[in-house]
Amino acid sequence: MTQQPVTTVHLTAQATSVITTELRTADHTTETGGILLGHHTHDTVTIHHAGAPGPDAVRTPTYFLRDLAHAQALADRAFTADGSVWVGEWHTHPTSRPVPSARDIATYRQLLDDPELGFHSVIAVILARSERRWVGAAWTARHDRITPVQLRLDDPVG
Ligand SMILES: [Zn+2]
Repeated sequence: MTQQPVTTVHLTAQATSVITTELRTADHTTETGGILLGHHTHDTVTIHHAGAPGPDAVRTPTYFLRDLAHAQALADRAFTADGSVWVGEWHTHPTSRPVPSARDIATYRQLLDDPELGFHSVIAVILARSERRWVGAAWTARHDRITPVQLRLDDPVG
């Protein structure tokens, strides 16, 4: 199966809300994040659901790794709700730029290398703290390449 390369990542209001709530309430001495679920259509990935980190996430000042059981439960609910599938992850860089670290890239490569997960590309949304605001950037990782793509955020609900 071939799919067009991703040029745009679009977060729906529902997904944006989860992230903005986490940014507002989390302790930013460590990174936070979660998984992203949605659909890849033409050159756009639409994110319908974003996860919170979950109780067993690994959170350090320079690294984040999702809580797998928490992620799996969200993935099951999202698939039941609207057929959304796991397309990638979001996380924060409280003290650096919204650019994937070497360790982030290694994590994405592990996902790409797992045939059971069936990823063509992994979407990464990284939020960095800049002049008292959060700035976001989206990336698409495919095997040996990580490319910046456009990030579109709908206004959060509520
Ligand atoms: Zn990172």
